[in-house]
This record gives sequence, C-alpha cells and structure tokens, in this order.
Amino acid sequence: MELPFSDPIWQRPANRHRLHTPLETSETVDVAIVGGGLQGLSTAYHAACRGLAVRVIEARRIGQGASGLNGGQVIPGLKHDPESLVRMLGEEQGERLISFAAGTADAVFGLIEDRALDVPNRRNGWIQACHTHTALASAADRHRQWQARGADAALLNAAEISRMTGSTAYVGGWLNRRAGVVDPLSLTLELARIASEAGALIAEEETVSGIRREGGGWRLSTASGKAIRAKKVVVATNAYSEALVPGLRESLVALHSFQIATAELPASLLETILPGGQAASDSRRILNYYRIGPGGRFVLGGRGRMSVPKSEADWRHLERSMVRLYPALEGIRIERRWFGRVAVTPDYMPRLHAPEDGLIMLAGCQGRGVAMMTAIGGPLAEFLQTGEARALPFLLSPIRPIPFHRFRRVGVGAHVGWYRLLDRLER
Ligand SMILES: Cc1cc2nc3c(=O)[nH]c(=O)nc-3n(C[C@H](O)[C@H](O)[C@H](O)COP(=O)(O)OP(=O)(O)OC[C@H]3O[C@@H](n4cnc5c(N)ncnc54)[C@H](O)[C@@H]3O)c2cc1C
Repeated sequence: MELPFSDPIWQRPANRHRLHTPLETSETVDVAIVGGGLQGLSTAYHAACRGLAVRVIEARRIGQGASGLNGGQVIPGLKHDPESLVRMLGEEQGERLISFAAGTADAVFGLIEDRALDVPNRRNGWIQACHTHTALASAADRHRQWQARGADAALLNAAEISRMTGSTAYVGGWLNRRAGVVDPLSLTLELARIASEAGALIAEEETVSGIRREGGGWRLSTASGKAIRAKKVVVATNAYSEALVPGLRESLVALHSFQIATAELPASLLETILPGGQAASDSRRILNYYRIGPGGRFVLGGRGRMSVPKSEADWRHLERSMVRLYPALEGIRIERRWFGRVAVTPDYMPRLHAPEDGLIMLAGCQGRGVAMMTAIGGPLAEFLQTGEARALPFLLSPIRPIPFHRFRRVGVGAHVGWYRLLDRLER
C-alpha cells in the first residue's frame, strides 16, 4: 500500500529481510502494540528484553509511518523550555520530565552504539538558527536554561552561525551538542530487527480495527478478520490515529510535514553548507528544518498542505525557502519529494493516556518525536511490567477531544497564514 510521495531518500540497512510473522487467531500475548513506528518498536524491544511476550501489529510496512519518513533530526527536549515546564507542572514533575527530555538523544545514540545498529548517524549537534533579534533573545534564554542544567551548548553570533550553516540569513542562534542526525528509516528498521531478535513478533499490513475488553484482558481484531488476545495494549499510532480509541484522533491535530531532497551537491557546496553535518532548524513559527542527507544531498522540510498532495507543485514553497537560505542552490535538481503526518496538541505538550486499566498511549510529538519516541520505550516497558506510574516521565491525563475538531483545516489554515505574516513582520 504505497501512497504517492511517500518514498523518502533514506536508506535500508544492508541484508535487511522482512520481519513479518503472520497473526495467529489463537495467539495470546502479554503486550499487544498497535503501530510499528519508533514508539511501538522501542516499547516492543524493551518489553521483550524484560521477558514479556509481545506482538506488534502495523497497518502498513515498518517505516511507512512518520518514523521512517521524518527528517532524522535527533533533538533532545520538548517544545517548551525547562523553566516553562516547571511553571506548568510544578518543581517535582517538571524536573522529572526535563531530565527525561534532556536524555532522549543519549537514548538514541546509546542504543545505536550498544547494539551496533546499522544506522548512518552523526552526533555533532542541532543548530536553532534565528532570523530576528527577538528570536535570538529567546534562543539566548533557552541556551541559558539548558546550560544551567548541564547541556553542552553554545550561543552563536552572526559570524559563527553563517560559518556553521553556510547561510547569511541569520542574526545568530544556539547549538545543542547533545543532538545529531540519523537515518530515520534505518533506525526504525533496525529497532524492528532487535525487537524481533529479543522475541517480539511483528505483523505488517494488518490494521487493528477494534479493541475490546475480554475477561481480564483485551481482544484485538483486525480488518482482515483475525483476532488476538493480550493482557495489555499499547496504542502507538500517534499522528496516524483514526477511530480505534474514542476521542484520541480528535485530541490531536495531524498536520502534514513535507520534505525535499536535492541531487548530490558538488564538493564546493558541501564545504560551505552545514560543513559540520549538524541538524538545523530556523526559529520561525512556520519553520524549516534541514540537514545534509545520504549521498551529499541537501534535505529540507517544512509545513505542507493539509490535504494529500497532488503534484510536485505542492512542494514549491519549500524550494523557494531553500533558495532564500542558499541562493547557490537555485536551479539544483530536486530528486525526491515526500511527506508524512505530525501530531500537534493545543499546548504543544505530548499526551499520555491510560483510559482503562491495561490500555496506554502516548501521542503528540509536535514534530520532535525521533529522540522522544525512541527513549520512551524503556519507561513504557517498565510501566507495562510493573504497573508503576512513576516509571513514566509524563503524567497520565484523560483524553480530551479538541472542540470543533471537524473544522481543524479551516482553523489551521488561518493560523498558518497569521503565523507566516508575523514571521515576515518581526524584526
Ligand atoms: C515529514 C516529517 C518530518 C519529521 N521530522 C522530524 C525530525 O527531524 N525530528 C524529530 O524528532 N521528529 C520529526 N518528525 C516527527 C517524528 O517522525 C514522529 O514524532 C515519530 O516518528 C513518531 O513515532 P511514532 O512511533 O509515535 O509514530 P509513527 O512512526 O507514525 O507510527 C505510528 C504507526 O501506527 C500505524 N497505525 C495507525 N493506525 C493503525 C492501526 N489501526 N493498526 C495498525 N497500525 C496502525 C501507522 O501505520 C504508523 O506506522 C517528523 C515527522 C514527519 C512526518
């Protein structure tokens, strides 16, 4: 089931064979996981390592959700700065979440190293590049807050950011050296491999169409007419959530993030555009994020239309952004265009729900899920085994559908227009 424009530039590990074990209707497992992205697979891996019997059920092929389509920027932290988290959540819970968020990139790079995963990666940091002095003042404050909590970070002046990004579009920024880049498709497929080697069973191209209580556990049925039983269920469907859990889809706004990858850049440009290999994103409300990808291609992403794209013209705004940043890329061939879904919440905080005993879900990464969803697997697995809510870095909350969710396209369209205007006006 390959949608148009859903074939990213990313790579598949060598010697990769399909990890598909068909569902058996007689199956009973400790944990059933709906969704085989980073969240589902990391949870499967950690739960299987704890000796639990695990089944992952993925509607498409592994890697065809956001986890295999994203920009591969491994950025620790949340959209909110540490002091804002403490204000929102109080000292104890705020600091617990901050310390989890700060360590999420360590979880990704640590797993790659410890398990010798075949995942192209580079840990040279993430640059948040500021286009205005107002944005730079916020970045300086963010840098101060993270540095006070031990992050290896640097504030960048105009000359430094120009040297590091190769663009003269910025007045400054900050660098978080804990961050880096990975090939996200390789990471997802390699997580599937180690989850499977640890004993988790993975079924692809099976859509879970119903979850209901049965005895002390759960019965999951699929669109193909199969059913399995599980003591506990993780719904790791995030931005791809549909009607499986009442209210979940309506509690999120699923936006489209679009990406382009150029043809291989000439050596002279690779020496000037992000020569240090960092991940970068700008400080705009409607932001662009970019990096050098496999084979020396420049990869840039940003917001795209809410409906499914129809033609290459739907990526033109990103091509224009690329040339604004790097005039030398004018006329370069765009080799690939693709898109995926990002789940956003009204307060830009991820949501953890356990609407019933033994049913849990985390959703709403605001486009920052590579590090977070890989890192959450350990705590979720511990919670599944022990039932101990203290294992979880997020507080459990009820599912709260967003009022007027049906009109989200109109609302988002108006917001985007307004934010673009502010981005243009601000100095
Ligand atoms: C274009 C793009 C660029 C991004 N760039 C970055 C970035 O650079 N850095 C960053 O940190 N984050 C980025 N993100 C966000 C990041 O990719 C996500 O936050 C993260 O991958 C979410 O992982 P997940 O496992 O929760 O969800 P997913 O990877 O989306 O997995 C959910 C899975 O559930 C499956 N599913 C849904 N319903 C069912 C069902 N009923 N039955 C069975 N399976 C089902 C879906 O098919 C899907 O595979 C980006 C996202 C996109 C789309």
